[in-house]
Amino acid sequence: MSAEFAIVGAGVMGCALARELARRGRDVLVLERSIPGAEASSAAGGILGAQSEAHGPGPFLDLALYSRARWSELASELASEGHDVGFSRSGLLKLAIALEDRAWLDEVEAWQRAAGLPVERLADASTRQPGAPSVPALFFEDDGVVDAQLLPAALAASARRAGARIVCGGNVLGLAEGGLETSEGFVAAQKVVVCAGAWTARVPGLLPKGAVEPVRGQVLVLQGQPGRLRQVTFTRLGYLIPRADGRVLIGSTTEHAGFDKRVTPEGRETLTAIARTALPELADAAVLDHWAGFRPGTPDDLPLLGPTHREGVHVLSGHYRNGILLTPGSARLMAQQLCGEEPDIDLAPYDPRRLS
Ligand SMILES: Cc1cc2nc3c(=O)[nH]c(=O)nc-3n(C[C@H](O)[C@H](O)[C@H](O)COP(=O)(O)OP(=O)(O)OC[C@H]3O[C@@H](n4cnc5c(N)ncnc54)[C@H](O)[C@@H]3O)c2cc1C
Repeated sequence: MSAEFAIVGAGVMGCALARELARRGRDVLVLERSIPGAEASSAAGGILGAQSEAHGPGPFLDLALYSRARWSELASELASEGHDVGFSRSGLLKLAIALEDRAWLDEVEAWQRAAGLPVERLADASTRQPGAPSVPALFFEDDGVVDAQLLPAALAASARRAGARIVCGGNVLGLAEGGLETSEGFVAAQKVVVCAGAWTARVPGLLPKGAVEPVRGQVLVLQGQPGRLRQVTFTRLGYLIPRADGRVLIGSTTEHAGFDKRVTPEGRETLTAIARTALPELADAAVLDHWAGFRPGTPDDLPLLGPTHREGVHVLSGHYRNGILLTPGSARLMAQQLCGEEPDIDLAPYDPRRLS
């Protein structure tokens, strides 16, 4: 097999990048050892939390706002191809449950207002979210959500429709002169882009040790009432995500447990407590599911987007807890860089070579 661009991994990053490149008329081959979205991308909650996830102005916020602004266009393009991915700009609520959380809320509100971002202060969260405790809260009207369980297949179908080839079942074993070694043989490529999520630094000779590490997150799914939870709702310890059919996803733990994908009783207890605190009526809700996935974490919590020290080998990974939010933005910027276009924003802060 051969291609102009060989992409390793068909998570949201690999699929969205393939789609961007194929829509530019490029010859793209994606190599996935399992199925599209088999790992973090389908384990995610799907929060599009550009404001709720940022800790202040800087490169994360820049990329997050750039990407969030592209979500509605991506969702409607996917919908026009027959894939509703549950995109909703329903806003996001951040609750100050404990007294000491109020100072945290003040801080967030202050820097976001100074940055010119829309943020609303509520004296009583239950005025926006019935059933929530009567505590102070912030509401970010521009944050939103998609259904991450639907997204990878939609992106893969859209990439294929644009002309990309996605080949499943073969394992990429390593980089080689002029391409890749895989379990199915040599694949020739002019450029290689590694989008292997938490496994990115496992590709021999690609990145320094520890450049990308798996950070396990567990998600618990409860049966709620359709429409009752109006928007993603955060406490300081975790979040609740509504799905159209009434399911509520509770996330998530942050665990350094290597590649152990088991869920744990402690994880379930933590998530149940988050649900009870944010929306007490969920205390008796039936548990429908419980899963875990690996966020691709980096030492500075910024993604890796750009060339490596190896000629012709690039990385698009390390999106840690915001890879769904960052999908349209990162994929477009990477495609611009790979195709020699001027990227819409400065990519220097995300250059993978900063870690060496
Ligand atoms: C519990 C949890 C909740 C999350 N919630 C959110 C959220 O609400 N909002 C948000 O924005 N983000 C969230 N995230 C983060 C988001 O899911 C990730 O940042 C994103 O999915 C990473 O996408 P990816 O394509 O880089 O990696 P992945 O989805 O992990 O894809 C990598 C792919 O590469 C393949 N692969 C790996 N090695 C090889 C190889 N050698 N050969 C062939 N194929 C290979 C894998 O099989 C996999 O399919 C969450 C993550 C978790 C775990």
